[in-house]
Amino acid sequence: MILALSGGVGGAKLALGLARVMPPEELAVIVNTADDFEHLGLSISPDIDTVTYTLAGLANRELGWGRHDETWSFMETMEALGGETWFRLGDRDIALHVERTRRLNNGETLSAVTADLCRRLGIKSRVVPMSDDPVRTRLRTEEGWLDFQEYFVRRRCEPVVLELLFQGAGAARAHPEFLAALADPSLQAIVICPSNPFISVEPILAIPGVRQALIDSPAPIIAVSPIIAGQAVKGPTAKMMTELGMDPSAGTVAHRYHDLLDGYVIDHADMSEVVSIDARVTLAQTLMRTMEDREALARTVLDAAAVLRRRKATR
Ligand code: GDP
Repeated sequence: MILALSGGVGGAKLALGLARVMPPEELAVIVNTADDFEHLGLSISPDIDTVTYTLAGLANRELGWGRHDETWSFMETMEALGGETWFRLGDRDIALHVERTRRLNNGETLSAVTADLCRRLGIKSRVVPMSDDPVRTRLRTEEGWLDFQEYFVRRRCEPVVLELLFQGAGAARAHPEFLAALADPSLQAIVICPSNPFISVEPILAIPGVRQALIDSPAPIIAVSPIIAGQAVKGPTAKMMTELGMDPSAGTVAHRYHDLLDGYVIDHADMSEVVSIDARVTLAQTLMRTMEDREALARTVLDAAAVLRRRKATR
């Protein structure tokens, strides 16, 4: 079994690559839920949905979110009625949010609903929310505290970020399947996907017990840098690093994860950073444009993990 920790877009790309180069039922993707929010009366889980749509082959590659075969009648009608339209929801996408909301209101857990919806969409890998308890990222910006989607979508990541807070993380319980997998002697590797460290990976690490369970796991931990040549492929990762007083680089991300990493995959473009990284570094093409890129990077990660596993076993 392979465990991947993921946010949305960057994480989902590698998760898809992994699911295509290994038996997909042996992959479990632990997904950040700190971006989740309630909107128009619906429970929305953006990162879970991105991973789900991506693994199901339904993702909208142009938009980077939502479904590819989408229509927008709901949004157009909402606009005509003077309703809220800053968070775009396609017609087909809304069906998923309505169904999830109904089932959560009936007392089902987010993980149970997610597992069932994934099964119905033909996904063979497991998609597991980091927790069934609510955790919400809030950002202190130069304009004051903002809820995550307020910052990310409504304000298009423009406000300067000074501090992040994962509300509810201290009281949240990691999903039992996640903790059990970490302790399982047959776990082959833990992959930290190329996701935003601050808003996608660190909320997972903030749940009590997760960090220690990762350190104690018999499996090696290998991350893929979300930063290539000082830049994020998409989204505010590099901008946030600068605002938080860090040098936006692959090395800085490795330092954030310092005590966790056994291995780290960085782009050929970042070769000069190898010396500053305290983990076994693998150079690769880490930009995933095509399906072949996703599969090749996934293979690189699995091969590197196999070497790390042997090393860890002889320690
Ligand atoms: P979000 O929750 O939708 O913001 O998604 P993630 O946190 O999973 O992904 C955002 C990060 O993915 C950004 O830091 C991007 O630089 C990174 N990313 C996106 N595509 C790629 C890619 O093809 N290769 C690498 N290495 N990183 C990527």
